[in-house]
Amino acid sequence: MARALDSLRVRSFLADIPKFWGRGADEMAYVVTGACKGCRYSDCVPVCPVDAFHQGTDMLYINPEVCIDCNACVAECPVDAIYADCDLPEELWEWVQINGDMCEIFPEVTERLEPLAPRPGE
Ligand code: SF4
Ligand code: SF4
Repeated sequence: MARALDSLRVRSFLADIPKFWGRGADEMAYVVTGACKGCRYSDCVPVCPVDAFHQGTDMLYINPEVCIDCNACVAECPVDAIYADCDLPEELWEWVQINGDMCEIFPEVTERLEPLAPRPGE
């Protein structure tokens, strides 16, 4: 019973995601999560064909209005911080809203940035 309820909650949340972003029900977007905090290596930026990334103070965010769901950035991220919204684990759902909100505040980034911390092994 508990599993059925959990499954219902997950489906209900996923159905609501497009509403947060004003996108159609058949659309999705990609989301940067907290693993990006403090590194900002920005390997994801040059591969994005539509300049969907925005630069926050300690991490990047994806603009859901701009992202075309091409998946190109996911493999570039060395810390696995980027997810398609439909693949987000429950504990990371808050990042859907955070990405949308932060992209309204912070500017677009179109070029690789100076990392905030050295890469592992450097
Ligand atoms: S590659 Fe990953 S860790 Fe680096 S800036 Fe992009 S999302 Fe953040
Ligand atoms: S999925 Fe594609 S369009 Fe969306 S942020 Fe990543 S690289 Fe850019």
